[in-house]
This record gives sequence, structure tokens and C-alpha cells, in this order.
Amino acid sequence: MTRALVIGGGPAGLMAAQVMADAGLSVTVAEKMPSIGRKFLMAGKSGLNLTKADPLDAFTQAITMPRHVKRAVADFGPDAVQDFAIGLGQAVFTGTTGRVFPKAMKASPLLRAWLARLDGLGVVFKPRHTWRPTLGVPAVFDTPQGTVQLDADVTVLALGGASWARLGSDGAWVDAMAGHVVPFRPSNCGFHVTWSSHMDRFFGAPLKACALSAGDHTSRGEVILTKRGIEGGGIYTLAGPLQDGAPFRIDLMPDQSLGHIKRRLSKPRGKASLSNHLRKALGLPPVKAALLREVGPLPQDPTSLAKRIKALPLGLNGPFPMDQAISTAGGVAATALTDDLMLKHAPGIFCAGEMIDWDAPTGGYLLTTCFATGRAAGLGAVAYAGGSAGGNALS
Ligand SMILES: Cc1cc2nc3c(=O)[nH]c(=O)nc-3n(C[C@H](O)[C@H](O)[C@H](O)COP(=O)(O)OP(=O)(O)OC[C@H]3O[C@@H](n4cnc5c(N)ncnc54)[C@H](O)[C@@H]3O)c2cc1C
Repeated sequence: MTRALVIGGGPAGLMAAQVMADAGLSVTVAEKMPSIGRKFLMAGKSGLNLTKADPLDAFTQAITMPRHVKRAVADFGPDAVQDFAIGLGQAVFTGTTGRVFPKAMKASPLLRAWLARLDGLGVVFKPRHTWRPTLGVPAVFDTPQGTVQLDADVTVLALGGASWARLGSDGAWVDAMAGHVVPFRPSNCGFHVTWSSHMDRFFGAPLKACALSAGDHTSRGEVILTKRGIEGGGIYTLAGPLQDGAPFRIDLMPDQSLGHIKRRLSKPRGKASLSNHLRKALGLPPVKAALLREVGPLPQDPTSLAKRIKALPLGLNGPFPMDQAISTAGGVAATALTDDLMLKHAPGIFCAGEMIDWDAPTGGYLLTTCFATGRAAGLGAVAYAGGSAGGNALS
């Protein structure tokens, strides 16, 4: 029986394990943590966003990915992910913005059902096995019982990105792939802002009905002001361009034109203070009025003030530390991989999940791409081993 080894028990590794076990391979999953899927469980803490119910074209456009990752997502996109969850007994629902969640919201029921299915397929789990990052076969692990070697005919590495190291994904595997890795950088992360004390009372408050931009990229997602800076899906999406140096702007009234705002501000304000005038003429809530002052004294003339409202140049002091990012960009370079996600310089060893160099916003794109690349790497390994993937094994 062909022996397959999966190293890393996150969603990508589990999907690779399932595909290979479905095809009749004898599969072992080695994981350095005491239990499987720790980051997956964490992802479910605030609602496990499995995928986005978008047409495939729109879905793939949101992800920055090389051709072979795109092919994997095209073969296992939003519909397949929903079918997969339903197949594990997890009913799903689609929120108003198209995001798809399991009805249970948490990851634990899905993970439990998945592990039971894998167990039924004979998959063996070896927790507390920390892989030593060298590509030799057999693979070498440090365990509480000492050094262990695991031999295999095919291997899928699904070691994750480089954030939330306490859940297992510390990026230490890059040592095995010098010259084949694009440096990591935080993605889907908040940014530091040095606030004045006037902003204290707004910490924790959402900044509603705003549009953020970083150069040509815009986002209308939710944003929260915190003591450290600015967080939330709205800014996470812009993490890439912001780190590339694109100028950051906030449009505080994205649904009103510059001309309209200027006209409202040009109305005589009598004895009203400028703050009161802003509130009465534009209905600007206190948090937005405070932000306007945060970047310097308020301009008195309506045109300059309207321009500031439409393009507030809030200064950012860099991203939060990488370990706190929801995901990381960078990882195994596209040029190091075959179309089947096999390492060109290490035949028989495949890669899956966040450890490959692709980037996506939150919103279900991350997990879908991890599932899809796990499946593609597993199918690649099955083909390499000379077996058969058995058609649509996951449907
Ligand atoms: C707070 C939070 C919320 C999130 N919410 C969502 C969401 O709602 N929707 C979404 O799409 N995405 C979400 N994500 C992102 C998503 O969880 C990750 O993209 C996904 O888990 C990556 O899957 P993976 O299998 O590639 O890697 P991981 O899940 O990181 O798994 C990699 C595994 O490899 C193991 N490993 C690493 N090194 C070794 C070694 N040397 N030896 C053995 N094992 C090793 C790790 O312990 C880990 O278990 C969230 C992330 C966070 C942090």
C-alpha cells in the first residue's frame, strides 16, 4: 500500500489527507501541536467564514495567486466548500454580504465530524511530532519520546503561514526551502496610529459608513479605532498596498460628492462653532469630527474642509506585528512548484495551504484556498504515487 505522509494538521493538511485516503493510500498526519486544527478552531471563534457565495470569476479575482493555485480554487471553489461542509453534517447559511458560515458558527462540530470521517478512512494521527525542516526522506520529527523517522512514498507539507505561532504555524519550515521562498509579510492585519488624547473616548468604536483607500485600492469594510491604531476587515484588505507604500486616505462621506459637501458647508453658519456647523450641515458624528481634527487644525474654508472629509490623510505607523496577523502573504514561491503543487527540487513532496505564496482578504477566501490547495496537492500526490484519485472523491 502506498504510504502518504501529511505534515501539518490544519485545514489544508486534512483535506490532502482525505483525498489521499479516499484514493486508497495509507495516510499518516504528523502535527507538532498536542491536537489537530488549532488555528482552524481559532478561526471559528468569531464565526467560521468558510467561503463566499460569489460566482467563481469574482471569487478568484479577490485572491492574489499564481496560476496553479488558481486552478486548484477553480476545481474546488465556493460551491464545493459548501457541499463539503454539508457532507460533514454541517448546515451552512449565507449572510447578507455573501459570506458563508456553518449554522453552528464554530469550527469544532465540523472539525469533529471531519476527524471522525478521516479516522473511518484509516488515517493515523501523530500529534506532538515536530518536523525538522529538511526535505530528506524519511522525514525526521522531534517528539516527547525522542527522535522519530517516518518514511513515505509521497509527502504533503501543509505547515501554514507565519502568524499565531502559539497555535503552531511559526513559519520555521522556511529553513528547508532556502532560495524557494518569498519572504513572509503580515496580511489581514491592523495598522498602528499614534493618536492624540482626544481620540481616547472613541477606542473600540466602529467607524461606520466610510471608504478607505490605499492608492487605487478601496475598501468599505468595517473599521474599528483602538488604542493601538486601526483594525477591522476594511483595513485588513488594504494591508498589501499599504505595506507597498500606497497613500492611505479615509473618505468620511463616501455616499456624498465633494460638490454636495462643499455646498452644505458653504451655508452661513451664524454664531455656530465649526463643530456644530459640521454636525448640523452634514450630520457628521463625533468620531468623524474628531478624526478630522486628528490630522491638523480644521480648515476654515468650505472647499478645503470638504476635501479633507473626502480624503482624510490619516498617518499610519506600520502594520501590527506579523504574529498577530490573521494570515501571512509570502511562502513557497510559485516558481518552485509544478502544476500539481509538487516541489520541483524535491519530487514526491507537495505543498498546500497558507505556506504557498498567495494572498487573500478575509471573507472565506483564505479557508477556501487552503481546502482547494490541500485537495490539489493530495490529488497530485495520488497521481505521483501512480494511484487514482477516484473521480470527485469529496463530493
Ligand atoms: C483569528 C483568526 C481568524 C480567522 N478566521 C478565518 C475565517 O473566518 N475564514 C477564513 O477563511 N480564514 C480565517 N482565518 C485564516 C485561516 O484560519 C488560515 O488561513 C488557515 O487555518 C490556514 O490553513 P493551513 O492548513 O494552511 O495552515 P494552519 O491552519 O496554520 O495549519 C498548519 C499546521 O501545521 C503545523 N505545523 C507547523 N509547523 C510544523 C512542524 N514543524 N511540524 C509539524 N507540524 C507543524 C501547525 O501546528 C498547524 O497545525 C483566521 C485566522 C485567524 C488567526
